[in-house]
Amino acid sequence: MSITAFATTDPLEQAELEAAPVRYPRPSRLRADLKFEGAKMQKAADTLGLATVGDLLLHLPRDRREARAVAELVPGDSATVVVQVRSISSRSVRRRGMRPLVEATVADDSGAMKATFFNQPWLEQRYPVGTRLALHGKFEGRSRFRVQAHARTADAVGGDGSVAHYPATEGLTSTQILALVREHRTALEDFVEPLPAAVLTRERLPDRVAALTEAHFAASDVGLELARRRLAFDELLLAQLVLLRRRLERRSSSKAPVLDGERDLTARWLADMLPFSLTGDQERALDSVDEDLARAVPMQRLLMGEVGSGKTVVALYALLRAVEHGYQGALMAPTETLAEQHFATIQRLMPGSVVPIGLLTGSTPGRRRADVLGKLSTGELPLIVGTHALIEDTVRFARLGVAVVDEQHRFGVRQRAALDAKAAEDERPHVLHMTATPIPRTLALAGYGDLDHTLLRELPAGRRPIKTFVCSSSGERERAYDRIREELRAGRQAFVVCPLVEESELLQARAATAEFERLRSGEFRDFEVVLVHGQLRSADKQAAMAAFASGGAHVLVATSVIEVGIDVPNATVMLVEDADRYGISQLHQLRGRIGRGAYDSVCLLFGSKDSLRLRALAEHTDGFELAAIDLELRGEGELVGTRQHGEAVYRVAELPRDAELLERARRYAEDVIVDDPELADPEHALLADALVGAYGAEALAPIRA
Ligand code: ADP
Ligand code: MG
Repeated sequence: MSITAFATTDPLEQAELEAAPVRYPRPSRLRADLKFEGAKMQKAADTLGLATVGDLLLHLPRDRREARAVAELVPGDSATVVVQVRSISSRSVRRRGMRPLVEATVADDSGAMKATFFNQPWLEQRYPVGTRLALHGKFEGRSRFRVQAHARTADAVGGDGSVAHYPATEGLTSTQILALVREHRTALEDFVEPLPAAVLTRERLPDRVAALTEAHFAASDVGLELARRRLAFDELLLAQLVLLRRRLERRSSSKAPVLDGERDLTARWLADMLPFSLTGDQERALDSVDEDLARAVPMQRLLMGEVGSGKTVVALYALLRAVEHGYQGALMAPTETLAEQHFATIQRLMPGSVVPIGLLTGSTPGRRRADVLGKLSTGELPLIVGTHALIEDTVRFARLGVAVVDEQHRFGVRQRAALDAKAAEDERPHVLHMTATPIPRTLALAGYGDLDHTLLRELPAGRRPIKTFVCSSSGERERAYDRIREELRAGRQAFVVCPLVEESELLQARAATAEFERLRSGEFRDFEVVLVHGQLRSADKQAAMAAFASGGAHVLVATSVIEVGIDVPNATVMLVEDADRYGISQLHQLRGRIGRGAYDSVCLLFGSKDSLRLRALAEHTDGFELAAIDLELRGEGELVGTRQHGEAVYRVAELPRDAELLERARRYAEDVIVDDPELADPEHALLADALVGAYGAEALAPIRA
C-alpha cells in the first residue's frame, strides 16, 4: 500500500514523507484551561461546555461558511474574512436614536475595505491599528462590510473557500470560536489514537488527529465526509462498548431462576387450549424464550412485532413457564385500556381460567386492590396484569419469576428497574420487553444494543390485506360514509377515529363527543353508535368497548385510545379524521385494528393527498417498511423509543445514514468485549481512556463475577 495524501489517492513523494512532522502527543496539554475575555464570554463558554483546550477542539463545526479574500467579495455576500486593522475610529453620536458606530479600515493582501461595527463603541480601544481580526458579516458593496461577528486572530491568511461554522451561543460567536480553534490548532496533535492501526486499515478510516484536523480545517468535501465518518465511528463504537459491557455485567452479576423443568402446564396449554396453531415466527420466539429461561441469567429480550402479530401468546407462554415452576408472572402495560385488553386477551387464550389471574390498575377499587396485593405477597395469585400500579411500593411478590413489559419504550429506565426490584436480590426476574413499533435493525442496535432481539414478522394466517385510501374532497367523504353503511348493512362494524389534539385530552374528548353526536343523529342514524375517549369513567369506557366487542354496537367513535388493545375481528372499516395529525406508526397501529377477520377491510384516511406520510400508508402495509420511511421523514431522534432512551443521541453520527458504520462499530465492539471485557489489554488501553473520557469512570467499572 502506498502512502497517500489525506482523503485522496495521490501518493506522497519521498521528500514529502521525510518532511512529515513526527508527533509526540502530550494529552495533558488538552486539559489546560481556556481563558476568555470577560465574564460574559466565560459564561457563554460554560454554556457550551468549553472549559479546556480539549473541549474546544472536540467542539466540532456544524457546517461551513464562505471565506473570502477582500478583493473577491461580491455585494450581498455573507462571508468570513481575515484582515488587519489599518485605521479605526468611532462616530460621535450626534442625533438621538443614532446607534454608536465604529468604523475601521481593514485590509488583507488582496485589498482594503471599510468595516462597520454597531453598538460597540469600546472596540475602538480594543482593536488598535495593526490588530489582526477574523470578521464575519455582509459585504454591502462600495467597499463596505457590515460586521456581525468578530474576533482577534493570529492567522495571517483567510479566504480559501470556506471556514468552519461552530455551534455558538450569545456571548461567544462562531467567529470567536473559529479564532480560538485556530489559536490552539497545534494542540490537535496532542490527541491520542484510541484505535489499533490494524483496525484503521481494515475499516479504511483515517487516524483521529487527521480526522479532527480535517473537521476543523477541511480541505475538501470528500475529506470532510471521511473525517466525519471516522469521528462517527468512534462515537458509535464507544456507545456499543457501553451497551455490551452493560449486558455482560447484567449477565454475570445478577442471577435469575433456572426455569428448565417439566412443561405440564405449557404443554397442555399449547396442545389443547390455545384456539389456533402458532405461526413459525411465534414458535421460534417460544424457542428463544425457552433458551433464555433455562439459564441462570435474567432474560433481557426485546420482542418486536407489529400490531396483530400475536405477541401476547409469546408473553403468556413466558408467564406460564414461570407459573409451572412455582414462580409468579407479571405483565405491565402503559395504559389502563391496554392492561384491560391484555387481561381479556389472556383469558380468551387460556379458556377455563386454568391459572388464576388478577388485574391491578390505578382504578382498581380499594377492596379488590387489597385482596390482589395480599394474594400477590403470599403467592396465592400466580399471574397479574397491570399498569404502573404494579411497581408501586405497596406491591410485593412472593416469587416473581418472569416480567413482561408491553410497549416498553413508554416506560422509563427507572420504572423498568423498579419492576426488576420486585424480586429478591439473588433471584431477578426474566424480562421480556415487547414493542409494536417496529424498529429498524440499526436503530434497535443503537438504542437497545444491550437486549437480545426477536422479531414476529409473519402475521397469523387468515389475515386479510387492508386497502387504504387518502380522502380529501367532500365527494370522497360522501362515498366514504356510503361505503361504511354498506359494510354495516352486511353485518360488519366500523371505527371512526377523531383527530389527535396534542394540547389537551379534554379538548380531544370534546371533539370526539361532538362527532359522536353528529354521526349518531346523521350519517349513522340507522345504527347503534358508541363513544370511547380518555376522559370517560372506566365503567362507561368498558361498557362501550363491550358493546362494540359483542357486536351490539355497529360504530365505535373513538380518540386514539383505541390505538392499542381492541380486538374485534368483525370490524372491517376505519375512518380517521384529520389523519395528518397522527404519525406514521400511530396510524399503522390504528389501522391494525381492522383486517383481523375473514373479510376484506378498508382504511379511509382523511387528509391532504400531498402528505408523504399518508401516501406511505396508502402504499405500504408492512410495518417495517413504514418504520424505515418514518425514519427517513423524521430522523432518528424523533422516532419513538430512541428519544427517551438517551444514549441514541450522537453528535457526529447520523442514523439511518450511518447504519453501515454502526454495524461495523458493533462488530468491532463485540470482538473487543469477547476477548477483553475490561479493556485491560495494552492494545485497548487508549480505547479504555476514550471510553472513560466519553462516559465517565463508571463506564469502565470492573464487571462483577
Ligand atoms: P399483538 O399483541 O402482537 O398486537 P395479539 O397477541 O393481541 O397481537 O394477537 C392479535 C390477535 O391474533 C389475537 O386475537 C390473537 O388471539 C390472534 N392470534 C395470535 N396468534 C395467532 C395465530 N398463530 N393464529 C391465529 N390467530 C392468532
Ligand atoms: Mg397486543
